[in-house]
Amino acid sequence: MTNITVTHAPSGLVPAEVVRSARISPNFVRVTLGGDDLRRFEGKGFDQWFRLALPVDDGAALERLPQRVDTRGYLKYLMLPKATRPVIRNYTVRQFRPEVGELDIDFVVHGTEGVAGPWSASAEPGERVAFIDQGCGWKPVPADSYLLAADETGLPAIAGILRDLPRDAVGHAVIELSDAADAQETDAPVGVTVHWVVRDPRARPGALALATAQSLALVGTPYVFAVGESALATGLRRWAVGERGIPKQNVTFCGYWKLGVAH
Ligand SMILES: Cc1cc2nc3c(=O)[nH]c(=O)nc-3n(C[C@H](O)[C@H](O)[C@H](O)COP(=O)(O)OP(=O)(O)OC[C@H]3O[C@@H](n4cnc5c(N)ncnc54)[C@H](O)[C@@H]3O)c2cc1C
Repeated sequence: MTNITVTHAPSGLVPAEVVRSARISPNFVRVTLGGDDLRRFEGKGFDQWFRLALPVDDGAALERLPQRVDTRGYLKYLMLPKATRPVIRNYTVRQFRPEVGELDIDFVVHGTEGVAGPWSASAEPGERVAFIDQGCGWKPVPADSYLLAADETGLPAIAGILRDLPRDAVGHAVIELSDAADAQETDAPVGVTVHWVVRDPRARPGALALATAQSLALVGTPYVFAVGESALATGLRRWAVGERGIPKQNVTFCGYWKLGVAH
């Protein structure tokens, strides 16, 4: 469930290759992409995200992917032979360095299930991928303060938003992790308090971030941004609009993943 608007960037399908990858903390692998085609990519900051296509065999089918993931593009994708059709998953631009043509993605490594998480754990320089820029979910709506909440999958989005918020912004950012050692340095405005919270291994991911966000004092009419496990995103939106009377247009939410459900 989400209310984010998808933007189809003019860069279309951008082929790229893995330049390097590194385990940056217990549950995160940072994969750096490069390649000449990155010159066509326009970095917009905040939580800019993209559809990442990962080849299932030798990468040959990457070129046959659609330029846009709208209804027509998705049908074109479905018509590719299933055995060689690349797998598509959604990821966030953690950092874009146009001066050197590099783009970082921070992958949560969540075990052996799925495709993208396990792929990142063994990504090698030279491997080919492709991505389609889908713009930012973040909306520049007027607000007195900010309340940002995420689990670890939303760490890249929240870190990007904190980096790009006006320096006089005030509010709170709650980021839930499974391991305190996954916390990262953030460039948050001084008026935005960053709360790193660590869940109990038996707890549902996102539940602690939701409870923590709901316990914080809000200034004026805030802008609320909630991403991560589906129940966190929908739960914070329901609370913000239903219980706190925050206007719907001041709430952005997106279920980044759903417990037990593959994309
Ligand atoms: C706009 C957007 C931006 C995103 N940005 C990022 C990002 O920058 N970094 C990032 O790591 N993720 C990000 N995600 C989340 C990512 O797309 C999902 O976690 C995705 O399901 C991973 O694909 P997969 O192939 O590894 O697993 P899937 O094949 O989708 O799922 C396989 C199984 O793994 C479970 N699963 C999926 N993700 C997780 C997880 N994180 N922890 C535990 N279990 C999980 C599923 O419930 C399912 O049971 C983003 C999602 C969206 C919508």
